[in-house]
Amino acid sequence: MELKGKKALVIGAGKSGIAAARFLVRRGAEVILNDSADLSAQSDLTKEGIKLAGGGHPLSLFGALDIVVLSPGVPTGEGDIKEGLSAAISSGADVISEIELASRFTQTPVIAVAGTNGKSTTTLLIGHILSASGKRVFAGGNLGTPFCQYLIDGDDADYIVLEVSSFQLERIAAFKPMISVMLNITADHLDRYPSMEEYVEAKKRVFLNQSPEQFAVVNVEDKISASLVKDIGATVIPFGIKNRHEGGVSFENCNIVSDIKDHSCRISRERLHLHGSHNTENLMAAAAVSLICGMTGEEIEKSLSGFEGLPHRMEFVSEIEGVFFYDDSKATNVGALMKSLEGMETEVVLIAGGRDKKGGYGQLKPLVKQKVRHLVLIGEAARSIGEILGSDTETSYAASMEEAVYKAWKAAKTGDVVMLSPAGSSFDMFKSYVHRGDCFKKAVMTIAGAEEERLRGEGNAL
Ligand code: ADP
Repeated sequence: MELKGKKALVIGAGKSGIAAARFLVRRGAEVILNDSADLSAQSDLTKEGIKLAGGGHPLSLFGALDIVVLSPGVPTGEGDIKEGLSAAISSGADVISEIELASRFTQTPVIAVAGTNGKSTTTLLIGHILSASGKRVFAGGNLGTPFCQYLIDGDDADYIVLEVSSFQLERIAAFKPMISVMLNITADHLDRYPSMEEYVEAKKRVFLNQSPEQFAVVNVEDKISASLVKDIGATVIPFGIKNRHEGGVSFENCNIVSDIKDHSCRISRERLHLHGSHNTENLMAAAAVSLICGMTGEEIEKSLSGFEGLPHRMEFVSEIEGVFFYDDSKATNVGALMKSLEGMETEVVLIAGGRDKKGGYGQLKPLVKQKVRHLVLIGEAARSIGEILGSDTETSYAASMEEAVYKAWKAAKTGDVVMLSPAGSSFDMFKSYVHRGDCFKKAVMTIAGAEEERLRGEGNAL
């Protein structure tokens, strides 16, 4: 694809939009970077030859375009942008996502990790295993460095491992990963999608262009993921934690068992420090991918002890007088919170709430009854969650993270876990899930400091 002299509009000036604009301009395209927000803070980009158009999506931007790169975070359902995009499409512009753009300019094999939950962990786990075995790997996409930025930096990896979101998949055309992974599909982002069916359709697109020479590693014990494999072109490698999967990957007596053709082996899970059945699933997917890429079971097993979990995913924060605090701020939907609760062997004081993504809190009822000693609710969704789950356990409300952590600490008993696992997005009270998790950690450390002071005072008094 020739970009020289082409007229390009990049909509959305987040990380991937900026990377796409830079990539296009370096390949000789005339580029306008557009965002609904003001772009004066990005004025340095003009020195690189990128024109900036901030503060809205006026129709005038959409005339005579060859290519439009649409960033994942941009809603296109109404207003000028909706009209502008349909005008661009009717006049023959190619409207694509950043991963589609980048994939047209590399021959390096791509591994695309999709699913509602576990994408970042699995992407990094695959990257870790392959690099431990001596391969050069780029692991990024929706997490970390955008695909286009990797190309700008030189495209020198043996494998590209990409976390791909449904929003990026919506606008692919020829994107064809050598291996796609589908971890699970549960309700998420239903504030952005008109229906669950449309969310599933977007995720399914990861398989769109694959044929039998490519592989699809699919959790066939996940109902919706399993329903997709019937009509996909790729060679399917099934996996799942409960049953034996012929030609795929299963879990038996703490071992990952591979029956993949020409790649049979057993890998002990023991060396992986990450807890919970969801992380076993993530490891099974990563092992399947690594085996297809030619790693041996021994190499995979050996690499596991060096893998550290990611921050804000069931991250241990502190222990205060026998109460254990965990930050699971990245659990931004009901499915993720369910997995985190399922993995808990002690009673939990749960801090939840945030911006509602319409994922059905009712599903949590049995787990809340069984495991949650006390529920502290925060954020926009607090009252609606309280109406659904408040009768299942003792419930209180907090207006800030500090108050929530303090109430949780007061409600906890020795041996309990206090867990921030919100089942909602963070934008009602925080800048991001990272900011929310950091505020939680800070509040925990404040309590830890105060308790230490108190104990020291008691010691001095004796
Ligand atoms: P993603 O990138 O898809 O958001 P992460 O790896 O960042 O996924 O994990 C986010 C949260 O999702 C974790 O904190 C955990 O609660 C939950 N989670 C992780 N892996 C899985 C899985 N395989 N199935 C269900 N939930 C998971």
